[in-house]
Amino acid sequence: MTTTTPPSKRIAIIGAGVTGMTAAWDMVRQGHSVDLYETGSEVGGLAAGFRDDGWDWSLEKFYHHWFQTDSDMLRLIDEIGQSQKVIFPRPKTSYWMDGNIYRSEMNASVFKLPLSWVSILRMGLAGVYLKFLTRNWRALEQVTADSWMRRWMGEEAYARLWKPLLIGKFSERYAEVNMAWLWARIYTRSIRLGTFEGGFQAFLNALANAIRERGARIHLNTPVEAIGQQNGKPTLTLNGETRTYDRVISTTSPQIMLKLVPALRDTPYGQQIASLESIGGLCVVFALKQSLLTDGTYWLNLPATSADKRANPFPFLALVEHTNYMDKAHYGGDVLVYCGDYVPTNHEYFQLSDQALTERFMPALAQVNPQFKPDWIRKTWVWRAPYAQPLPGVHHSARVPALQTPLPGVYWASMSQVYPYDRGTNFAVEIGRRVAAMAQTNL
Ligand SMILES: Cc1cc2nc3c(=O)[nH]c(=O)nc-3n(C[C@H](O)[C@H](O)[C@H](O)COP(=O)(O)OP(=O)(O)OC[C@H]3O[C@@H](n4cnc5c(N)ncnc54)[C@H](O)[C@@H]3O)c2cc1C
Repeated sequence: MTTTTPPSKRIAIIGAGVTGMTAAWDMVRQGHSVDLYETGSEVGGLAAGFRDDGWDWSLEKFYHHWFQTDSDMLRLIDEIGQSQKVIFPRPKTSYWMDGNIYRSEMNASVFKLPLSWVSILRMGLAGVYLKFLTRNWRALEQVTADSWMRRWMGEEAYARLWKPLLIGKFSERYAEVNMAWLWARIYTRSIRLGTFEGGFQAFLNALANAIRERGARIHLNTPVEAIGQQNGKPTLTLNGETRTYDRVISTTSPQIMLKLVPALRDTPYGQQIASLESIGGLCVVFALKQSLLTDGTYWLNLPATSADKRANPFPFLALVEHTNYMDKAHYGGDVLVYCGDYVPTNHEYFQLSDQALTERFMPALAQVNPQFKPDWIRKTWVWRAPYAQPLPGVHHSARVPALQTPLPGVYWASMSQVYPYDRGTNFAVEIGRRVAAMAQTNL
């Protein structure tokens, strides 16, 4: 008896971030001919890293770590034979409150927080409910996080711990975010935080190599200009040239997707994409000669009381001393500190020069450590991402566009569609696999 292998099909994937590379990995292993197109000069998208002279490891442009619950990511790493490089230390995460640093873990350390006993008890009960007792996110998406937290956690714990987080993340839009978003964050997180030896970029390069070894072609510095149709098949325009494929999977932001496919704009699907909202993110990274958070804190949540940055005690949301998580020996002895924030793309933080933004953030270093002197700074970098955090309002599930677009053979998978989960590389793997499986049906 002879068996026939189905003929390999031509697949194009737009974007070599985690979603696109995962889809490519699944497609190429099914024997398809895969072209992966990436605008940037390296793979990795939002999770990519950079490296300075004298560093053995790369550092993520935007702070990144995994949770022990990130099963889709851990399975993918296993599939490419790299599990031995995943490490899961238990770094210290903290809140800044009233000029002091308090641990922010959901365990006995909460009793040290400067909150009343009633607030601590209510926070504990609500935390246990969200973490262990409910998976009914559909009920939670009907209310805002602001109203749910006020009601069940109480005004004090909400105002002092959770509202600042929401304001920091969503600026003046904080009160619109639904409770399913906050549930998903609490439900999926672990105390141990994971990374890859060599940094996330080392993992991303290993994934890209695994894809290439199976025969896929990764075209860097190659922006796709348009997605169209010819004789019932999807086409891509690149450098003014048109190429025909059997399937096209785009993993870009909603804004770019609409630009790439003008034919979608006037469809209900296009209007659904246009209605998706998101917020930008940015990090100023300092390479210092001395440690700033000398108590060993890795992640320090800073209080935001207003969407007006100048009215807040600090000009950004989180101060992250990466080298309190990973050994500074990997970075030529540099102490690496991120100052991270989220703002709409029309905010001045997206208009200021790199130097002006760095100068705006720098005084905060002396606020958390009065010993800090500007001559501790060896070097700085500024990274900005206009599409960094989708914003889910109430009843959001009805607004999430399907992975299959109305254009035959064209699919779209992005951070905006991993809902109810928050964006994250684990969910990029999950949606990358889902879109690859869907695109292969009836192929
Ligand atoms: C500040 C910040 C912190 C984060 N922290 C974490 C964390 O701790 N842990 C975690 O797991 N995740 C974290 N994330 C989320 C994580 O980075 C994303 O969920 C994930 O990287 C999204 O992958 P993606 O492939 O869907 O999108 P992207 O990484 O955005 O990839 C899309 C790719 O498409 C390319 N592209 C766009 N247009 C075109 C075009 N026309 N032609 C060709 N290519 C194109 C882009 O260059 C990009 O490389 C964080 C994100 C941010 C912004």
